[in-house]
Amino acid sequence: MSSSPLNVSLNLVSNHDHSSCVTRVAGLPTVSVENDVICLVCMEGFRRSAKQIPCGHVFHADCIAPWLSITNSCPLCRNIVFRS
Ligand SMILES: [Zn+2]
Ligand SMILES: [Zn+2]
Repeated sequence: MSSSPLNVSLNLVSNHDHSSCVTRVAGLPTVSVENDVICLVCMEGFRRSAKQIPCGHVFHADCIAPWLSITNSCPLCRNIVFRS
């Protein structure tokens, strides 16, 4: 298994209060993905469904929530996720 550089920055927010970002992530569309698609935050596959952000990239809800609590852009392509 390969490790993602994103894990380093995600660890910095492990004590963050997730209540607000979890709510935002819950509003993202849940999509089904192919078996060979992996979440590029944790580099693991999706069992059944994934959260898709507007740029089209998909992640586990638990993986993208902490990321979106520190930045409002896709960890892969830097597109804005939530427009106010
Ligand atoms: Zn993940
Ligand atoms: Zn993206």
